[in-house]
Amino acid sequence: MFPITSKINPLVSAEILRVNVVSLIARLAVCVMVIAVFTPPLLALEPIPDKLVVLTFDDSVKSHITVVRPILKKHGFGGTFYITEGFDFKENKESYLTWEEIAFLHRDGFEIGNHTRDHMGCTKKNLSKIKEQLDAINDRCAEYDIPKPTTFAYPGNAFDDGAIPILEEAGIQFARRGGSPEYSYQKDRGKGFGYEPGRDHPLLVPSAGDARPDWTLDDFKRAASMAKEGKIAILQFHGVPEVEHPWVHTPVVRFQEYMQYLKDEGYTVIAMRDLAKYVDPKTQRPDDLWEVISKRKAKLAKEKPTEEE
Ligand SMILES: [Zn+2]
Repeated sequence: MFPITSKINPLVSAEILRVNVVSLIARLAVCVMVIAVFTPPLLALEPIPDKLVVLTFDDSVKSHITVVRPILKKHGFGGTFYITEGFDFKENKESYLTWEEIAFLHRDGFEIGNHTRDHMGCTKKNLSKIKEQLDAINDRCAEYDIPKPTTFAYPGNAFDDGAIPILEEAGIQFARRGGSPEYSYQKDRGKGFGYEPGRDHPLLVPSAGDARPDWTLDDFKRAASMAKEGKIAILQFHGVPEVEHPWVHTPVVRFQEYMQYLKDEGYTVIAMRDLAKYVDPKTQRPDDLWEVISKRKAKLAKEKPTEEE
């Protein structure tokens, strides 16, 4: 027990308490402000909704501005145009976009992505040339006030995993491949898988579908339907129509039908760069990028006998 040696004046102690509380609140406020100023904002990713699709259009085809653009605008859809100066881009301006038209597509709200200068396959023997190929498109973009592309599409859907660190170093966040190697490019008519963030490497994002001339609405629906349960459907197109490469042609009426289907069914239709709203490409990546591909191939091998009946 402590002896009470003096009386406490209640008025004085209330004033001391008030001063202390005010001082404590002021210090807390300063701490909160300091933390707010010096802590980098956390990337608040949006949850991946069902029916999320990415539209991509390869090879700088003239019909991207004459046919695809007005249809996408009508529906309020986003999309990415993957630009290359390969084929006879430089001479044949009837079939290929001009850089002025590419810049217009950018100003109109669409994404301009990198597809290499010469439409070069990213195979093992070409790895040393990738940087130069990317830089050539980046330089053209700078010349035409187009932001440096942050997404990439593998030309001819060919890839070697040695390309990944090179793309990363060049500031590419997401790179799209085709439906291969799970499906055959020739035999499986553009079939693919939905992108599974975390399981698929962000620089090897599979196409859920790669539109072919004989596709019907059912083929398109199959590809789009992969956009569910955390998966995103990346859809690959070339020209609408595609004169120079008829094996990846899409007829205008079919394309109108596909886009109307997405609209009617309430799909969210975005550009490849917009994946960054839903996926953190720095952290959502597998330790072994081949694991998901091997699992899908094993599953397909099991299903094949019944599919062919
Ligand atoms: Zn291409």
